Amino acid sequence: MANKVLLKKTVTTPVRKNVALVAHDNMKPELIEWAEKHKEKLIKHNLMATGTTGNLMQKQLKVPVQALISGPLGGDQQLGGLIAEGKIDVLIFFWDPFEPMPHDPDIKALLRVAAVWNIPIACSVSSANFLISSPLFDSEFERRVPDYDQYLKERL
Ligand code: PGA
Repeated sequence: MANKVLLKKTVTTPVRKNVALVAHDNMKPELIEWAEKHKEKLIKHNLMATGTTGNLMQKQLKVPVQALISGPLGGDQQLGGLIAEGKIDVLIFFWDPFEPMPHDPDIKALLRVAAVWNIPIACSVSSANFLISSPLFDSEFERRVPDYDQYLKERL
């Protein structure tokens, strides 16, 4: 289906957001340091993460994080599914630009589905800083997403 015919609708992202966090092994120290710095802001939202990232955050930051399956075991795909269901509002994904990953297709799929559903994504410390310092991080904001009901109507 060509993108130009994909109908969109506007949805409102709530003040309290579902924030997903993922970091590849070499990037975990950076994510933990970043999350520690922004802990006060982060805990105002529902945090979820891939398995190891989530458990590490709980242990080191002492914050509640819903930990899914570990990324290489399907956690990235779980997150992608949640995004498609509209259950993730923000993705902080510190992927490793220097290491090939066995679950490379899952990583690509996660980034793709996040773009499809137009959720804010940060893949580095500086982009995560931009994201978390935006007034939209702590307020409602509107975003355009695929209008799936309309999509079906036109095809059935
Ligand atoms: P992990 O998964 O948090 O379980 O390490 C991250 C990933 O490799 O996608």
